[in-house]
Parts: sequence; C-alpha cells; structure tokens
Amino acid sequence: MSSRSILSACVILGLACVAVASALTPAAEPGKSVADRMRAWRQHDVSRPKPPVVTPVEPTRVVPAPADAVVLFDGDDLDAWTPVEGGGPARWKVADGVFEVTPGRGAIRTKQGFGDVQLHIEWASPMPPNGVGQDRGNSGLFFMGVYELQILDSHNAETYTDGQAGALYGQYPPLANASRPPGEWQSYDVAFRRPRFETDGTLIEPARMTVFHNGVLVQNNEELLGQTSWLRWSPHEDLGEKAPISLQDHGHPVRFRNIWVRPLPERSAPTAEQARRAETVALSDAALDRLVGDYALSDANDGKVVQIGRAGRNLTVKFPFRKFKLEMEPISETVFDLPKTDGRFTFRLDDKGAVKSVHFRIGDGEREYPRVAK
Ligand code: MG
Repeated sequence: MSSRSILSACVILGLACVAVASALTPAAEPGKSVADRMRAWRQHDVSRPKPPVVTPVEPTRVVPAPADAVVLFDGDDLDAWTPVEGGGPARWKVADGVFEVTPGRGAIRTKQGFGDVQLHIEWASPMPPNGVGQDRGNSGLFFMGVYELQILDSHNAETYTDGQAGALYGQYPPLANASRPPGEWQSYDVAFRRPRFETDGTLIEPARMTVFHNGVLVQNNEELLGQTSWLRWSPHEDLGEKAPISLQDHGHPVRFRNIWVRPLPERSAPTAEQARRAETVALSDAALDRLVGDYALSDANDGKVVQIGRAGRNLTVKFPFRKFKLEMEPISETVFDLPKTDGRFTFRLDDKGAVKSVHFRIGDGEREYPRVAK
C-alpha cells in the first residue's frame, strides 16, 4: 500500500492513522547532516524519490577554456590521455572534433594528476538510443580515478536514482534530471574538492562535489561518503594531492568533446608574522575617558556620529549603520585594534593635546572622523 492510499484510509478511519502515515514519510531529520541522510539509504534503492525533470532551456554551447585551464581535449587527439590499464596511447576513436568510447578498449585516464579542480566536459549519449536502465549510454567521469560522476542516458529513461545522469554514483541522486535527449550535446561543470588527511591517514575533510548539468545545479557541494563503489562501501583513501581523472568504458559509444580543467590553488593560513597581533597595553580610566565621545561620520552635517564608549579596559565603537557595538583593544594611548580584523582606530590630537579626530583603517580603506564638540 502506498503512503497516499494509507492516508486515504486514514481519512475514512479517523485520526489514529496519522502517526502511522507520518512514519512512512521520510523526513529530513533535523540534527543529521545531508551526508548522514544519504548514508541511511540502501545503495540503488528504487524507492528513492525521483528528482524532478528540469528541461534546460538553451542548447549546449561550446564553452571555451579560460586562460589558465589545462585543455584535456580540444578536438584533435587524445594525447592528454592514456589507458587506465596497460599504458601507451589512448585507443578510443577520435573523429570530427569528437572522441568516443570504443567499447572493449577499457577506461582512459589523464596523464596528468589533478586534485581540487573546476572541470568542464561536454558529452552525448548514443543516438539512436539503445538499452535500458544502466545499460543505456553509460560512462562515467572519475575524479582522482575513484569518485564517479555518472554519465548515462537519463532522458525519459529510468534507473535507480543514485545511478542516473548527474548522480554521484551510488551515493547522491541528482537534485534534478536536466538530461537532454540522446545525440544532443550535454555539459557538466564541476567543482571537485579532494579529501584531506592527517599525515597519519586520518580523514580531516571528505571529498566534495558541486555539479551543474546543462547549467542546472544537480549536486550542491555534496560531501562524498567515500570512494565510488558498487555493492559495498569504500572509505576515502589518501591518494595524495593529485591523481588522474578517468573516463569509463561501460561498453557504450558515448561521445565527448571540449574538456578542460582548472587546477585550484590551496588556501593558505597566515604566516606566524601575518598572524602576529600587536601587544595590548593597559590604560588608565583617564586615558580611556578622554577618547570617549561622538565623532562625525561625514561632513554632511546630518547628525550621524560614530560613538566611542567604554567597556572595561577597552573602548567600544558604534557605527550608526551597525546594530552592535564593537570592542577594540588599546595598543597605545591613541591606537586601538579591532580584534580578529585588520582594523585599527588611531586617535589624533591637536597641538594642545586635545582629541580632534579618530582615523579608522580597515584593510585598504580608511576614513577620518572629526570629533563633535560637546
Ligand atoms: Mg557509469
């Protein structure tokens, strides 16, 4: 019985059924991450909800590679590729600016290794279409050789949702089915982030993937549950910073063109020098109190002021356009830093030692606020 027919029965029988019906409705369990919810599914469960069909509007256009991209196929040859097994030249068919899986010749991989990347690829399912389910225009794009973004003819064609086009195979169904008909060019634009490990092999960050299929977001920065595997779970493994990208030979003549990849730089932590904060000093009440007051936000004479106040041994600043006061720490009698930011307030004195303004610098921006006479 479907949950809908149970609900109809409940209408007849009364409210006692409500708890039963809601127990049958899978819910987004609060407190559980998306990855936990995905992990709770049995692999290839045919009862998983079908992603909505979203028809892409414009035909796929060839998207030229940005200047810093590594071009993996520009229409001429497969020189950037080699068979996964055996080495030597990749022996898939290349003709008319396109290459095609040559069934039986095995998967191919890039000669170069890649870690974090932005990748663009265009592909087309065989025309006329042939086969059903997983046996219909199947190939796959494997990041680091182990994380598969499924390539399949999913246009008006059904299979288990964690194996349709745009799926992170066996783990995440796509958020939408944005497939084009067989024979038409389709595109994937992917942001892939490799997993990170401690030197002892402990996982720090799982791999992640974001995928646009024909311009439609189908994977939203999803956390991979492990390496792609069939009929079993496979954990993340430390493959180093780079490993080849591969394309699957699943026995179907899927075509490809225009493949490029942009290796992404690692983000850096500050050096010890960059992380160093100025030493704070303790100022007397009198030294702090003389700085307290209003400072004009601009010379517009509109009454808007930057208010300097006190909080213990620190000063506070309240901008008229911000809800909260910010606390700042004394570095000297006239210089105060906003902790956690590259922001600094420097009070300026006139010849007689009276406070005439406060200068505020944040990043590469700076302003001077003249003191408002009491
Ligand atoms: Mg596949």
